[in-house]
Amino acid sequence: MKQTRLISSEEVREQSEYMQKVRSFWGGRELYVYIETFGCQQNEADSERLCGMAVEMGYTPTTDPAEADLILINTCAVREHAELKALSITGQFKHLKEKKPSLQIGICGCMVSQEHRKEDVRRKYPYVNFLFGTSMLWRFPQILWEAMHAKRRTFHLDTGDPGNIAEGLPVRRAPGHKAWVSIMYGCNNFCTYCVVPYVRGRERSRQPACILEEVRTLAAEGYREITLLGQNVNSYGKDLAAEGERYDFADLLSDICKIPGDFQIRFMTSHPKDASEKLIDVMAREPKIAKAFHLPLQSGSDNILRAMNRVYNREHYLHLIDYMREKMPDIAITTDIIVGFPGETEEDFEDTLDMLRRVGYDNIYSFLYSPRKGTPAAEMTPVPQAIKSARFQRLLDTQYEIAARKVAGLVGTLQTVLVEGRSKTDVTRLTGRTEQNRLVHFEGDDALIGREAVIRITRAEPHALFGELE
Ligand code: SF4
Repeated sequence: MKQTRLISSEEVREQSEYMQKVRSFWGGRELYVYIETFGCQQNEADSERLCGMAVEMGYTPTTDPAEADLILINTCAVREHAELKALSITGQFKHLKEKKPSLQIGICGCMVSQEHRKEDVRRKYPYVNFLFGTSMLWRFPQILWEAMHAKRRTFHLDTGDPGNIAEGLPVRRAPGHKAWVSIMYGCNNFCTYCVVPYVRGRERSRQPACILEEVRTLAAEGYREITLLGQNVNSYGKDLAAEGERYDFADLLSDICKIPGDFQIRFMTSHPKDASEKLIDVMAREPKIAKAFHLPLQSGSDNILRAMNRVYNREHYLHLIDYMREKMPDIAITTDIIVGFPGETEEDFEDTLDMLRRVGYDNIYSFLYSPRKGTPAAEMTPVPQAIKSARFQRLLDTQYEIAARKVAGLVGTLQTVLVEGRSKTDVTRLTGRTEQNRLVHFEGDDALIGREAVIRITRAEPHALFGELE
């Protein structure tokens, strides 16, 4: 059964007409849009499309919500903390609405793709003008127009549509030399702790020709780093195969590498069950693909992996790591770990620490398990908070030692970095990233931003390297 609905060019054109209507509505007034984005890179990419559409409607992006005429809050549902933060920010915007009644406030993204959160917003935030779920993003101009024109609140949840793909929407990318490219949407995996398949629908891949064209354009515009995005990026193409084509993520990467230009490719997020040897071979062969692999482990215990419905085990995961290191000895490997999943015993947790030591990750992103309403894990017996917190600290301590050992060997070496800009914590320094995605701080001139620089490393800390221009 074909699940993906490709939004037709007529439907996209219709949205352009709504963009013109909004623009005319304000009669050339100077207008500003402020977008607050929570969550993952997919949400960042979605916000860039929302911003692109807002610009077409006559709004200028601003970083100051107080001067905005339109505020969009693009939410995340992966952890409760992110939801509460989004609701708290929404609460803080109430006084802006009181000062400027013409201000339009909209909430979108994963959090409000859940019925109970839609109800929360409806009841507790009466000044929010409109709300729409992730599959409605392409209809943002129409939704905004209806909210403004009809002067009533509009709430558009997903309609049970298994998912759609809209091509040709305008994009306003964040300044800089890095670009996100979404290559697929949704997820079929139903990990028992995760709401993503419920709020973003089933997996659907963009057509290869559309992705290649977008990357070609970005390369021609001078973008130096292009990150391919998907909730489950390496299962790209499976749904295309169902339509009779045989084209997978490794094929896509190979074709992207044929595009002329001086750019580097990264991708996220991968699932170990879909990380094939073919994909690793393409990475090893193609100099344009950064030698960095983020491969979420989540737990080192086969029992917990089964309870999480992750569909791989330690042995499979370690085989992938061995194969990667055999083909790319200098590859950096990072991961995600959930601590305190329901039923996690001391032995299960020790298995996770054991995996940390065996793999020797360059970095880990660790999270305390947080129950998500409507997921199977939310019904399972929780681990007491005190035990979760103590394990979390042990995990961090273990990883700190591993990372410190790994980076110590880098002192004295020369590292080529792509210079990103001024350091967020010390503006006297520039910050760049190595191909392995290691952060490097050094002193230098703004003229280096967006270019490559060779740095001699003088100091190494687990989360950052420090050095001097060579
Ligand atoms: S792979 Fe699992 S954790 Fe990742 S988005 Fe899909 S269901 Fe969520």
